[in-house]
Amino acid sequence: MDDLLHLFFPHVCIGCESDVLDNESLLCAECMHHLPYTGFIAAKANPVEKIFYGRMNVQHAASAFYFNKESVIQNLIVQLKYKSNQLAGNFLGKLLGNELMKSQRFDDIDVMIPLPLNEKKFFKRGYNQSLAIVNGINSVWQKPVIENAVERILFTETQTHKGRIDRWQTMEGVFAVTQPSLIENKHILLVDDVVTTGATLEACGTSILKIPGVKLSVATVAYTI
Ligand SMILES: [Zn+2]
Repeated sequence: MDDLLHLFFPHVCIGCESDVLDNESLLCAECMHHLPYTGFIAAKANPVEKIFYGRMNVQHAASAFYFNKESVIQNLIVQLKYKSNQLAGNFLGKLLGNELMKSQRFDDIDVMIPLPLNEKKFFKRGYNQSLAIVNGINSVWQKPVIENAVERILFTETQTHKGRIDRWQTMEGVFAVTQPSLIENKHILLVDDVVTTGATLEACGTSILKIPGVKLSVATVAYTI
């Protein structure tokens, strides 16, 4: 059956379009070999943790890859967000999960929460890309997933033209924990695709941290300055 699918849907590497790759992989061996790992996932005070200094109390934060323009990672994230390719999210999640597991820093995580998507985007895309990533993580690193404890309650306009301060202000009150009993006293790993200013993760994380006994960590597939 796989061979038949292969015939109708040529299976090519998302990085370089080579057709020499395993059925389960989205990248060829060459592209896998050159993935831009940050190498800091196990390090304290890494650049992703520094984003949240003075803004939100995180136990650990890290990203597996650098997000470079026109890179393999960008191609995969474009597939995930704009080409309805959830497999790209599962694949990236698997890679992130392997790194989280290897680092041993995240061992005491109790549950994973995918960053909630607003309804308009959910409707357009049909799925939450962060959930696709979380499911990928879960396939190699079995931490329970909670999808419905936190919700995005406000719609925000596109924020690309606003500065960091404005962005934070417009993100306030966007998220709410609607089922606190699901996350009370737990160490939560909040997961998203890319971290840039951290404003969205901060807004969501801040609402999570209001719940008694909660500890928060953050992981993203990629990090960009
Ligand atoms: Zn390739």
